[in-house]
This record gives sequence, C-alpha cells and structure tokens, in this order.
Amino acid sequence: MAEKIKMRTPLVEMDGDEMTRVIWKMIKDILLYPYIDLNVEYYDLGLENRNKTGDKVTFDSANATKKYGVAVKCATITPNAERMTEYNLKEMWKSPNGTIRAILDGTVFRTPIIVKGITPFIPSWKKPITIARHAYGDVYKNTEMTVGANCKAELVVTDENGKETRQLIHEFKGSGIIQGMHNTDKSISSFAKSCFNYALDLKQDLWFATKDTISKKYDHRFKDIFNEIYEKEYKEKFSAAGIEYFYTLIDDAVARVVRSEGGYIWACKNYDGDVMSDMVATAFGSLAMMTSVLVSPDGVYEYEAAHGTVQRHYYKYLKGEKTSTNPVATIFAWTGALKKRGELDGTPELCNFAESLEKATVQTIEEGIMTGDLASLSSLENKKTVDTETFLLEINNRLAKLIE
Ligand code: NAP
Ligand code: MG
Repeated sequence: MAEKIKMRTPLVEMDGDEMTRVIWKMIKDILLYPYIDLNVEYYDLGLENRNKTGDKVTFDSANATKKYGVAVKCATITPNAERMTEYNLKEMWKSPNGTIRAILDGTVFRTPIIVKGITPFIPSWKKPITIARHAYGDVYKNTEMTVGANCKAELVVTDENGKETRQLIHEFKGSGIIQGMHNTDKSISSFAKSCFNYALDLKQDLWFATKDTISKKYDHRFKDIFNEIYEKEYKEKFSAAGIEYFYTLIDDAVARVVRSEGGYIWACKNYDGDVMSDMVATAFGSLAMMTSVLVSPDGVYEYEAAHGTVQRHYYKYLKGEKTSTNPVATIFAWTGALKKRGELDGTPELCNFAESLEKATVQTIEEGIMTGDLASLSSLENKKTVDTETFLLEINNRLAKLIE
C-alpha cells in the first residue's frame, strides 16, 4: 500500500451522539485511517461529555474551528425534557449547532447528494440546489400581542437621548393581532458575505429573493445590503469565476426554481429558508442524502450531515441488532472538510482522496448496493439492502480500486 496522506494543519473533529456516533467511528476505521494520517483536534460533543464539561467543550470546539478554519461535526442531541432524565443532565444544554453558529456568525448551506436511481420529484432537476438560510431574526425573534377592540397600535423607537419616533400600525375597531420583528445590518451583511464566498467556492450562481415590492423598508434593506456588498467586494471576483449574482422577487424565484435544472445556490431569508429547505430536501428524495456546511463571513467552515442522531436505529443497535442506517451524508461531511483542508493547506492529494471517496460512495449506490432508506426510494432493478458496515466495506472496495 502507498504511503498514508499527511495533513499539514489539524482538522477540528466534533464527535456526537447515538447512531451517528457509532457510524462516525466506522467511517474513520474503514474509510479514513487506512489512507490518511488523520491530523485532528478532537472534541467530544457527545451529550455525556457536554454535561460533564458544563458545555465548555462546545465553546472550545467552536473556538478551535475559528483558529484552524475547518471542522467536521457528527450529529448531536439537542436536549429536551426526556433527555434530561435519560442522560441525568445538570442543565438543559442548548443546541450545539446554535452555540457554534452564534460563535462563528455563520450561514448554513444545505446541498442534496444526487445519485442515479433516486429521481427528484421535480423531473427537470438534474443538479443539486443549495439552500442558504439566514439564521437570525425576523419572525424567529418576534414580539407578538393580541389587541383588544378600539385600540391604537404604534411602532415606537426611542433613541439614546430618549427621543421617540412613532408610526401608526393600525387603529383597531374590533380585536386583532400585531407582531414586531427586527433584523440588523450586521447580521444581514454577514449573511450576504457568507453567500458570496460560498458561491465563489462552489463556482455556482447565487440567487437571492425577498418581497421588497411589498416590504419597501424591511425586505428592501436586505436587497440593498446584498447589492452594495456585491458591487463593492464581489462583482469582479464573480465575473472572473464566470458566475452571476441574481436578485428577484420571492414568488418569481419559486417559479424559476421549479422550472430550473438546479446547479445554483439559493439564499433565503430566515422564514423562506425554513420552508424552502424542507421543500427542496423532500423533493430531492431524502434527508439522509443532505449535507450541510456552516460558512462564516470570514471564511471558516464547519461540515456536517443535515439529519439527526437517528435515535430509533440506535436503540435497535443497543439491543445488538445490525442497522441499515445511511452514512452517506456523514461521509460527505468528512469529504467536504478534508477537501477544504487540502485546499487551504495546498495539499492536492488530500482533495483527490476526498473526491475519490465521494465517487466510490455514489458508485456503490448506483451499482445497487445501499441502505434500507435508499432501497425504498431507488428505481434500480437489482438493488440489495445491506447494513451500514457492509455498505461501508463495499465503498472501501471501490475506493481502494479508484486510488490504487
Ligand atoms: P433524525 O435523527 O434525523 O431521524 C429521523 C428519522 O429519519 C429516523 O428515525 C429515520 O427514519 C430517518 N433518518 C434520518 N437520518 C437517517 C439516516 N442517516 N439513515 C436512515 N434513516 C435516517 O431526527 P430525529 O429523530 O428527529 O432526532 C434525533 C436526535 O437528533 C434528536 O435528539 C435531535 O435533537 C437530534 N438532531 C440533531 C441534528 C444535528 O446535530 N445537526 C439535527 C437534527 C436532529 P426511520 O426511523 O423511519 O428509519
Ligand atoms: Mg423547518
């Protein structure tokens, strides 16, 4: 066997929970250790260790990501009341993804992995559509009130000198409802930069849409900030890369997306992104085939699978059963991170390895060997359902041939 690939700079590795934690180790043992001298800074974000460290480990892992520039993360449990008892938690720790996103100030990009045999519900979609969702503000940080009859509702803004500016919302004759929401120029700018950077990275067009014809101040601000940043910092880079930034109205965007063949990044405001990412994920076929990367405005990357810890499969695993859990999105989290590490370090052998691993994974499925979730979707005739470990071994057979 050839010498193992060396890594110049450590990759931040964030381990996680349940079935994905089991798969995480299998991926390293079967597909990575035999080929790479893995240079990682390891953080155990499994719930037990988060609890033991008072969640310090999550903060440390995010700061390490800032330092080294690239991380790969396993799915983690976001505690709820049931998990408090199950894991005997000191506190209901916050979602690690939320904590990491807040520290890196990033935007999440989700991309489907496309394979032959699993056809999108929209037949014209030939290439992936990546959704970028703004993860701050709007209706997710709103204030709402019910209003009684014969009331006047106003917006009041008080400046630092106590001076008030008022604007009428509505004079209520009968009862009704009101809602106050906000966003900040800083957050919108970070969102815009992450989107422009990622489009350059992928060499794909960037689409952005709001409802600025109706929301002439709020949504228009998004449009203006994107436009200013584009003109000032990205226009030349985009034209050099042969890609476009395209702004349109949200209703027009939806119509164009459905008629498109894919192959671009669609930036969405918070609510649009919530709704549209579920639509796009479902239409492409499977959450287990969706990757996710958090990109900070200054170019720090954290890769993961879009699905959770696959709890139901884990309980089977604990009973000693072999499960057919799909590891593809987790494999692609690793390949995404290794490719980025290789790019930043100038080590093309690492990038080539990651690409071969992606190819071997897709090839395995297209040759009819897959996990149960995919078998139920695939239109291939001679398909065979295998357990996770067998699937990984089959990938490795093909990988070994690709890189020999
Ligand atoms: P989930 O883990 O994504 O699983 C939901 C269901 O989707 C599974 O029961 C399974 O269906 C199917 N599925 C998802 N991924 C699959 C895969 N790789 N292979 C095969 N089937 C797959 O979501 P959840 O059950 O709602 O959440 C479980 C835990 O994950 C929760 O504690 C939650 O907090 C956490 N979570 C973490 C993240 C993250 O870290 N990014 C994201 C979401 C959720 P069947 O059971 O029908 O086979
Ligand atoms: Mg949603």
